[in-house]
This record gives sequence, C-alpha cells and structure tokens, in this order.
Amino acid sequence: MALSGVEIFKLLPKTNCKKCGFPTCLAFAMKLAQRQTSLDKCPDVSEEAKRILGEASAPPVRPITLGVGDKAVKMGEETVLFRHEKKFVNPTVLALEIKDTDDEARQDQKIEDVLTSEINRVGQLLRVDAICITNESGDAAKFEALAKKVSEKAADVPVIVATEDPEAAKVALGHFSGKNPLLYGVTSENLEAMVSVAKDAKAIVGVKADGLEALSELTEKVKSLGVEDIVIDSGAKKGSQILEHNTLIRRAAIKKNFRPLGYPVINFVQRDDPLYETLLVGLGIAKYASIVVMSSAEKWKNLALFTLRQNIYTDPQVPMQVEQKIYKIGEPTPDSPLLITTNFSLTYFIVSGEIENSKVPAYLAVMDCEGLSVLTAWAAGKFTGAKIANFIKESGIEKELNHRELIIPGYVAILSGAIEEKLEGWKVTVGPREANAIPTFLRSRAA
Ligand code: SF4
Repeated sequence: MALSGVEIFKLLPKTNCKKCGFPTCLAFAMKLAQRQTSLDKCPDVSEEAKRILGEASAPPVRPITLGVGDKAVKMGEETVLFRHEKKFVNPTVLALEIKDTDDEARQDQKIEDVLTSEINRVGQLLRVDAICITNESGDAAKFEALAKKVSEKAADVPVIVATEDPEAAKVALGHFSGKNPLLYGVTSENLEAMVSVAKDAKAIVGVKADGLEALSELTEKVKSLGVEDIVIDSGAKKGSQILEHNTLIRRAAIKKNFRPLGYPVINFVQRDDPLYETLLVGLGIAKYASIVVMSSAEKWKNLALFTLRQNIYTDPQVPMQVEQKIYKIGEPTPDSPLLITTNFSLTYFIVSGEIENSKVPAYLAVMDCEGLSVLTAWAAGKFTGAKIANFIKESGIEKELNHRELIIPGYVAILSGAIEEKLEGWKVTVGPREANAIPTFLRSRAA
C-alpha cells in the first residue's frame, strides 16, 4: 500500500538538515509520497525506515533494462496515466519477431531490417530496438541455430527469447550470456523449470497468462522464487483487449499501487496485414506497452511508428532544442552566406534541410531561445536585435568570414534596424519567411 506524506514523515530523521535538497523533512516526505523524488536523497534515513519506505517508495512500474551497451533499452518507471500530467518516461521498445520456422533468407532479411532501421529524426536516433526469436518449430536444435545466428549477426541488439520449453530456452539463452536478454514464455505450467533457466542465464522473466487475475497470481509466484525483473503479458491479442488490459494494468499499478501488476507490459500484435499490424503497434505505443512485438519492419511502417513514439514520449513541458552554435552546412568558405534562426529542433532541422537542398554551402547561426520557434521567441523577447548581436559577436564567426552580412528570417524583418545598430559594420538582409523558399533565395544570390 502507498504511504501518505505524514506516514512517511514519521519515519524520517526530522532534523530538517536540507541535505536532500528540500527545506524540511516534511516537504521531502510530501514529494516522496507523490513519487517526485527518491528515498536515497536523504543520507541519514535509518535502515528500518529504508526497509519500510523502500517498498512503498519504489516506482509503481518497475524499471528494467533490456540488453547491454549503447543499444540497451530501459522500460517501466512510468508514474502517470496521461502524458500531460507529467510525461511518459521510457519509450515503447519495438521488437521484430524472427521465427525458427522462417527460412534462412527470411531470417537474414529480418536481421538486416533491424540493423538498417535506424534514422535520425530531429536529432534523436530512432530504430527497431530488439529482436524476438520465437521457437515456433518446437525443436530445440532449430531454435538454437537461430539464436546463434542472431547472436553473431546482431550482437549488440537486445534479444527476447520466446519459448515455453525450458530445454529450448536454456540452449538459446546460452548464446546471449551477459547480454541481459528477456526469456518470455513463463506460464503457470512451466513456472519452476523456466524460472530456474532464467535465473541461471541472468535473464529477465517474461510471464504469460490468460487474463489479469491469472497474471497477478503468476507474477506473485515468480517473485516468491526470487525474481524481481518481470515483464508481463495478459494474453491480450485483439486490439480492444490490448487497450482494456494495458489500461487496467497501468491504472492498477499507478492509482492503486498494486504491485503484482507493477511491471512493464509486452504485447504481441503480429498480423498478416501490415497496415492493420501498424495500427495495433500504434495502439500499444499510445496505451502503455513497454514492448511491442511485430512481424515485419518495413521502412514506411518504421517511419510512422518512430514518429508516433517520439511524439508521445517527448516531454510536453520541454520544447525540443538543439545546441546553440554556428553550424556548417556543406563546406562553407569565408565568402559563404551566414543565416540565423532559433534553436527549436523542428525549426533547425527544416531550415538546415532547406539550406542543404539549395546546394549552396552556408553557415547557420542557431541561437538559444529556450527551444522556441522564431516568431514565438521574438514575441517572448528572446530573439531581439541586442541578443542576436551579442550572440554573433561572441560566436567568433567574424574571424571566419570575408563579409559582414547576416541573413535573418523574413518573419522578423522588423529586427533589421536594431541588429544593424548593435552589430557595427554589419549589413542585415531579410531572408524568406518560409524555409521552403530558402533554396531559391540562396541560389539566386549565388548566381
Ligand atoms: S536529508 Fe533527510 S533529514 Fe535532512 S531534511 Fe531531508 S529528509 Fe530531513
């Protein structure tokens, strides 16, 4: 059960020493009750209090990491039902299923699809994150051959080993030693043997049940065998079931602090129709799935799903920003034009993309306006003549240029005079209002 702020306060040292960053123990206790801080911030808390509070203050959805290294993916740690309340924390892991009944060419193609799935979108690298190998054949030797292939060809990709056969699980997991894999397929029938295999291989345990009640009982049993890292599947397959079960699980974990369902959720949405499957993956992303396993990873599908996932898992209270600096587009020379814009990610990527399209090498000065777009930043007093002049002076770009001309966005033409006044010896040229006019603008100047 969750403890109230006052109940937590009673267990704290009550010295108001402020080492936790809060002015009083009571303020800290209140934040702890809302799960907006963690107990380890108080260095003086007693062992007894840690024992009692540790369980109560643990995140409602257990944090778990799948895989190791740069491509490892975090799951869980969610604290809200709706993204506008705070934010969603760890983006849904997209996993591509490879079956041991797929022919060799199909298996190779799927591995290749995962390895080549990465794209850069507004400064973030997005990809199909994991491979789920499935023991469709029921043959342990066949399954092991697939595990070996994936471990060799996609060594750094996080892996889900899906089987209900402890023998097949054991031989397959042998190829992912030290890689933090997930063993999916623990049921009430194979529980003890599978958990033993998972523990030996240091694998996360993926449990599968028929409905939420059976699922809660199963996670409790797995926990009683000494396993903490669990991923849960309620058996939901239809879209309506996925929506219902995932929502009930998230509600139970967050609103009721119901520990047996406080784990990352895995959904299996494989369908013959790729468009329908894409919709179901989207449902999983929007509604609380930590992992969605899909049957194909076409480029068009990835693009739609990556975009959706990125939008849902972006903090709605923090605009996406890029670093303030002078970016070189192409290979600019001292005679190349200098343009300026703000550091809202989307603005930067659209403007830099259009400069690239123009094939005219240029410098792009990107000014920190707290992630606001040009007009908003201007209206908020963050993109002003004086601030632009300061930024240009401090950037040191003057030393790299033979000219003293700054091209500003057409929407803030009004700033020309103020910039010229503060930036002595410079000429301000008003560029296009819309980024899509930049190529024509730059080419006509270069001609
Ligand atoms: S660090 Fe601990 S003892 Fe000090 S104010 Fe914070 S909660 Fe109280």
